[in-house]
Amino acid sequence: MTDMTNNNDLRMAYRPKLFTEYCNFENSKTLRILNRQMQRNALPRLLIFDGDYSTGKTSASLLLGMWSSCEQWIDRMPCGQCGGCNFVLNSQHQGTWRANYYGLDGTDIDANEIDEIFRQTNHYMPPYQPRGKRPDELIPNIVSIDEAHRTQPKIQERLLTLVERWTKTSIILLTTKLDKIDDGLIARGTTYRFQHPSLQQTAARLLCVAEAESIPLTEADALWIAEQHDGAVRESLGDLDTLKSCGITSPEEVRQLLGD
Ligand SMILES: [Zn+2]
Repeated sequence: MTDMTNNNDLRMAYRPKLFTEYCNFENSKTLRILNRQMQRNALPRLLIFDGDYSTGKTSASLLLGMWSSCEQWIDRMPCGQCGGCNFVLNSQHQGTWRANYYGLDGTDIDANEIDEIFRQTNHYMPPYQPRGKRPDELIPNIVSIDEAHRTQPKIQERLLTLVERWTKTSIILLTTKLDKIDDGLIARGTTYRFQHPSLQQTAARLLCVAEAESIPLTEADALWIAEQHDGAVRESLGDLDTLKSCGITSPEEVRQLLGD
């Protein structure tokens, strides 16, 4: 995630802060279900987010972290603006608590770290107590493991043991290779499939952002950019970011700059 540290970057600025802000929300069973489960405080204990790179898995896990940390839920949704939400969304730290969200990279987890997170969340107060008006019910902390398929088999086994006892936490495993995830974890967890939006949906999103940022982008160019990235929103927004940083002022410059 080292390429995303600039908060002015359009990819960061336009990261969805609600599931309904995904441009493919209406067409995605996964996003609709997560939205309802979040609203009803009915998240499974173990969630497995499966899908290609740039399909919105990281955004979804951050969003659930914001929900867990938000100080002023609006209709039981994260506000996206308070201290708790911002801490989750804008801090890039891995391997430490960001309010009630803990992000890990599967490539370098050791068993002690897993045990320590378990101990922290199950035996003493969660690290962050949202202050605002919230229903009087237990909201789980969120522990998210990126590149979960790179986690050593013995760590996956350890997770399987702990997940049964991990009552105050929902664990999210993010993966592009479901076949490398322990069968026991898959059986125990709930798998959510993430997919790229259609080219038209991505193009519509680009046009929205372009208008807000005063970037001269035609419908045809928006679709062309989306096509270059197979509909991946993050990469397409990266192109838009390039156009913005180069200060283009007319539609003709778009392909002059981005074309080969
Ligand atoms: Zn908030």
